[in-house]
Amino acid sequence: MADMKTADEFNPDNLKPTKNFAPTQNEALCGFENITITPEFEPFNQPNDMFCRGFWDKKVQNKMVYKFFRSFVKPTERSRDADGYEAHDYALRNGPWVVTEMLAERHKTEDRRDGFWDNFKPHIPPKLDPVSIEDPVQASVEIKKVAKLYGADLVGITDYEERLNYVGKFSARTLSNEPLELPEGLTNVVVLAKAMDYELIRTSPSSTASTAPAIGYADDAVILLAVAQYIRSLGYQAVACQNDTNLAIPYAIKAGLGEYGRSGIVITKEFGPRVRFGRVLTDMPLQTDKPQRFGVTETCQICRRCANNCPPQAIDHGEPSDYTFNRSNIKGIVKWTTDAEKCFKFWVSKGTDCANCIRTCVYNKDFSQRRFRVLRWLLGTPLRKLALKIDDRLRLHDQLPSHLWWGRKAGLKDIKIEVASDHPIDPEKAQRQQRVKDLRANTKERSQAEPVTP
Ligand code: SF4
Ligand code: SF4
Repeated sequence: MADMKTADEFNPDNLKPTKNFAPTQNEALCGFENITITPEFEPFNQPNDMFCRGFWDKKVQNKMVYKFFRSFVKPTERSRDADGYEAHDYALRNGPWVVTEMLAERHKTEDRRDGFWDNFKPHIPPKLDPVSIEDPVQASVEIKKVAKLYGADLVGITDYEERLNYVGKFSARTLSNEPLELPEGLTNVVVLAKAMDYELIRTSPSSTASTAPAIGYADDAVILLAVAQYIRSLGYQAVACQNDTNLAIPYAIKAGLGEYGRSGIVITKEFGPRVRFGRVLTDMPLQTDKPQRFGVTETCQICRRCANNCPPQAIDHGEPSDYTFNRSNIKGIVKWTTDAEKCFKFWVSKGTDCANCIRTCVYNKDFSQRRFRVLRWLLGTPLRKLALKIDDRLRLHDQLPSHLWWGRKAGLKDIKIEVASDHPIDPEKAQRQQRVKDLRANTKERSQAEPVTP
């Protein structure tokens, strides 16, 4: 275990990537021409993750952050007389968290927090000679079948990319950042998605809604552990990753599970943005999938519903760029970027996480219904403006009061329910964001053009 440090002693920049992973010129990432990786690319360093920063960064840390984390084990820290934030709403959210929490605590004496800062340590790894795989296509069919049997809703396979790994491995317990260690010879990544509950998400922002990701995490962990053990039992390496080790979003896109949205979330065809992703890194020979397009990029270009309905205005209203709001954004990727600091501050102020960008997304639908499959099809055509108008009229993205989710007739007197605003851009917000981006770009250009004389 690393020596215990204080927040003052902790240096998040103590590690540098072992190789230069930046391309010499802009190249498409994840097979998408609208997500570009530039020569300024640097792999992401785990201590810069917003949740890690809550443990060491004075810019973020305060008493409310502490209470926010504590509320996951002690709900009375934040429960109050407000619709969606009462004791039973926190109890509902904290129920499934116990599964993830127990798994995270399993190896705490080794300074691990599996599923959060660390990948899942194998449980009694079987030492077997690998079974021979003659046909990677058949092996891929089988692993997808197995993952679905264990509970995954979507499964895709893509190739392993070292540049998507985090630079370091953070520990909140000892406040350290150690080099990430992974086995040699990894070649493929099995990406798993678990859908989150539609009705719970409709109550966002509330502790009731936060129960959806809590269930998602618990389910995801169980599926990841089972799939990884299946692979190991065939004699191949398997590293099960949840919030740790690498970037989930590019892997999900590369594996063909969805498209990147303005909200910074992967939008799947089957469940929209309402999913959680896990990854199993392996050396098993498998056939990889291809990214799929179904019109999300084009829809996001004219729809800003998530950005308009983000309470702290953390979502990009403008065009994709390589602008970074703060150290929690990855450098050198042209895309829509979210201000994670603003988002996290809002979560802390509410005392639980928010899912407004998921709730209000035009793709957040129950696609088992034919009318929504037709809507999705329309969104993939030049008639998408019409589709957005139709969707606005349905008002399915308005908040559902939590007391109605519970099936109670009477709510509290002071309930304020959000009526979601629709997609038109707020010109003031877009201009403000653009001014900040321009200012930053000019400063960068000037500093490159004018070498500093010693
Ligand atoms: S989770 Fe909420 S605060 Fe964060 S980006 Fe989405 S809408 Fe905004
Ligand atoms: S709400 Fe609209 S802009 Fe935001 S991710 Fe969904 S489709 Fe894209």
